[in-house]
Amino acid sequence: MVDLTIPAEMLPKDGRFGSGPSKVRPEALARLAAIGDGLLGTSHRQDRVRGQVARFQEGCRQLFALPDDYEVVLAVGGATAFWDSLAACVVETCARHYVFGEFSGKFATVTQRAPWLDDPDVVASDPGGAPDPSPADADVQALTHNETSTGVMQPIGRVDDALVVVDGTSAAGGIEVDPSDVDIYYFSLQKGFAAEGGLVAAFMSPAAIARVEQVRRSERHIPTFLDLTEAITNSRKAQTYNTPSVSTVVLAAEQLDWMLATFGTLEGVADHQRVKAAAMYGWAESRPWATPFVTDPTRRSPMVATIDLADEISADQVNDILRNHGVLDTDGYRKLGRNQLRVAMFPAIDASDLDAYRVCVDWVVEQLG
Ligand SMILES: *Cc1c(COP(=O)(O)O)cnc(C)c1O
Repeated sequence: MVDLTIPAEMLPKDGRFGSGPSKVRPEALARLAAIGDGLLGTSHRQDRVRGQVARFQEGCRQLFALPDDYEVVLAVGGATAFWDSLAACVVETCARHYVFGEFSGKFATVTQRAPWLDDPDVVASDPGGAPDPSPADADVQALTHNETSTGVMQPIGRVDDALVVVDGTSAAGGIEVDPSDVDIYYFSLQKGFAAEGGLVAAFMSPAAIARVEQVRRSERHIPTFLDLTEAITNSRKAQTYNTPSVSTVVLAAEQLDWMLATFGTLEGVADHQRVKAAAMYGWAESRPWATPFVTDPTRRSPMVATIDLADEISADQVNDILRNHGVLDTDGYRKLGRNQLRVAMFPAIDASDLDAYRVCVDWVVEQLG
């Protein structure tokens, strides 16, 4: 272990660069502390907490410019539980999956293992790229807007009559999406929404809701916790079927209001993300010992940057030194197994802190060299 002390004035003000859980804005946390006494520990069936849920739902409608007939559904369990819900309540017979990293792969495994479904139709690509959606003989097209494990974006759109179901977990709130291109857009709240884990939000089109009702009428057994009919009915009353983390709801609502107040629209947030991303990838391209992992610039994520380091510089060593200084969680995705930095640039993460991050990496690399 090399013992290096990064000069304090170089360090970012906030050292949280993890891709999930990700930085919670201190202002949002302070707000939670200020209003929390009246909310935490109170019934999620009463108006106070339901008001926060409704505030979140309303904020989503505004930021994403959702069509009036789309519903904002909330469910406990995060994106991982939602995959099981999709397999139980939305996929009729067969799903088309695009596998280009850890998270897209995990959902494909869920439908693969579901004995009531046909084997999924899987199109895979090497990590670092993403397959384009293409027509399939399936009733669900399962897309991943931003593959968090590799920092790759997938284009979103309709290619056939199947329901378009998009994992937007690390994209939501920072990458543009046209809701009318999508039937279900779902995301956990501990990434772009700068809240905590355990809750999933899903925008659902009338066709998606009709599919849930149709599957519900079939013979299929649906465990209650996974039943999207329960999630939909409760969300209409600004509730969840079982008890949510109230602090997560409040933090996500705070983040939404902050995004709306600061950037106005989703396009406004996305512009801000593009500026931060251009600085990050430009930096990587300008250093002889760094390269953006994603070769196609149009697929590079503005939310999570993956940067390969030259063999002679150990990303583990760089990350260890950074961690000792409170600059946290920029390790590459472990299963990808590359000599890589993975840096979250979510809306809550300040451009100036990303600047400082790069100054620190430059400094460490120079000292190690
Ligand atoms: C983090 C992540 C998930 C898993 O979210 P959980 O809340 O941990 O279930 C799923 N998909 C993507 C794209 C993610 O980034």
